Amino acid sequence: MDYLAILNKVLREVQPIIGSGKVADYIPALADADPTKFGMSITLNTGESYGVGDCYYPFSIQSISKVLSFTLALRHYRKDLYKRVWREPSGDPFNSLVQLEYEEGIPRNPFINAGAIVVCDSLLSKTPDLPTAFNELIAFVRQVSDDNSIDIDHIIANSEMEHGFRNSALANLMKSFGNIDNDVLSVLTYYFQQCSIKMTTQQLSRSFLYLANAGVDPISKIEILNEGQAKRVNSIMLTCGHYDASGDFAFRVGLPGKSGVGGGIVAVIPGKMAISVFSPGLNQNGNSVVGTKALELFTTYTGLSIF
Ligand code: GLU
Repeated sequence: MDYLAILNKVLREVQPIIGSGKVADYIPALADADPTKFGMSITLNTGESYGVGDCYYPFSIQSISKVLSFTLALRHYRKDLYKRVWREPSGDPFNSLVQLEYEEGIPRNPFINAGAIVVCDSLLSKTPDLPTAFNELIAFVRQVSDDNSIDIDHIIANSEMEHGFRNSALANLMKSFGNIDNDVLSVLTYYFQQCSIKMTTQQLSRSFLYLANAGVDPISKIEILNEGQAKRVNSIMLTCGHYDASGDFAFRVGLPGKSGVGGGIVAVIPGKMAISVFSPGLNQNGNSVVGTKALELFTTYTGLSIF
């Protein structure tokens, strides 16, 4: 299949809608994002990679990082992790407090903020201090991306911290239910730094290849997760990867994926490739408008989806 020709066709088709949607403005550092950017990349399990548009433009991966920290926590805790965070779609906005109150501090899944905050807490408990814990995550991200230049954007991390009232409420509520072991400030600092990791679509598609190859990085041959764990991470991405619009994304695209409010989306075609798109304009659920459309067109034109 001529993937580059298909990517170019997708790029042409989305051109008229580039700029639609609303850039995330819950922190000033993200409100400055350029809504006219659009990049899309694929990396195949063979290592071949293709990209179009702004595919070398680094952006804040935000919630996409939740998949990477969840992977790391699964490696440490295996299925014990599910005692503290479930794997059920929430049907609520990603930062909702309501459900967490009546479900006694156990978040519905690891990809809503509360679930990701519990995952950060679990990773902190495995290391002596916050810098060691975060270095472990960054080292892991550099390993799966095969790129030692990956880092966080400190301006975004600080902005998240300054405006993190709702995430702080989530963490404190869970602490009151006994589902946070470390001090809340360290957990939130870890979480905000994680959300502030910057990548390009090229780097993101490379990073998610282990989920397209049953847990084993097809290029380095390193086992990141076992086959069963990889299946489950993909399943949770399919059912919970796009906030309370996960059903709509599955309906339109037909692939497991994860979006972030920075405008990025990554999706996985098991056995074949990982795909990433970036376009900062979001729909009301926090998913990239143009990014979702581009993925929908890609699976339509290639005939590749999990169904
Ligand atoms: N840093 C964001 C928050 O916690 C992440 C949101 C997202 O990408 O879903 O509000």
